[in-house]
Amino acid sequence: MNKKAMYSVSYGLYVLTAQKDGRDCGCIVNTVGQVTTEPNQITVAINKLNYTHDLVAETKRFTASVISERADFSLFKRFGFQSGRDVDKFADFPSVKRTANGTLAVTEGTNAYISAEVISQIDLGTHTLFIAKVVDMDVLDDAPSATYNYYLNNIKPKPESAGKGPVGKTVWICRICGYQYEGEELPDDFTCPLCKHPASDFEKVVL
Ligand code: FE
Repeated sequence: MNKKAMYSVSYGLYVLTAQKDGRDCGCIVNTVGQVTTEPNQITVAINKLNYTHDLVAETKRFTASVISERADFSLFKRFGFQSGRDVDKFADFPSVKRTANGTLAVTEGTNAYISAEVISQIDLGTHTLFIAKVVDMDVLDDAPSATYNYYLNNIKPKPESAGKGPVGKTVWICRICGYQYEGEELPDDFTCPLCKHPASDFEKVVL
């Protein structure tokens, strides 16, 4: 079985936002999909380690803002590489719009937003799959949606190239966010401290 077959599945990228007790939070996900049109229903799988997961589970409301090819890497750092448990990700971030369900849409580096209310959820172990009905949405920009591959090739800074670091040093690079783990072997149960993705999303590079 060639696990690299999964690399051929294309993904969009989204800022997923929720709100509780007046506090807004958001994270980056690649798992939003429309599943029915009548009624208009979407799904999103969120890693349980994300603070936003808990807010969606409790409040049953979220907005998915569709990241476009105009997005800057700073958007990914703000929403993907830190935890809402520790920081207010919306501090000094004016590019937002409050949508009909009370959560925030991100209006910079995005081309649309979809707000929804959860009607069902399924426990998938590391993630929860939320099924939700759309209650508000709008188009924000005409830039194409950023795919995960576009992010890797055009938005994410390139890792230090071979020859620039100490010769022979082995690093494991997170294919999602670029975090580098130094060491010959990456533990099987390793989780990226930045984006929470598992060891299977790391790539071994000998510099
Ligand atoms: Fe990562």
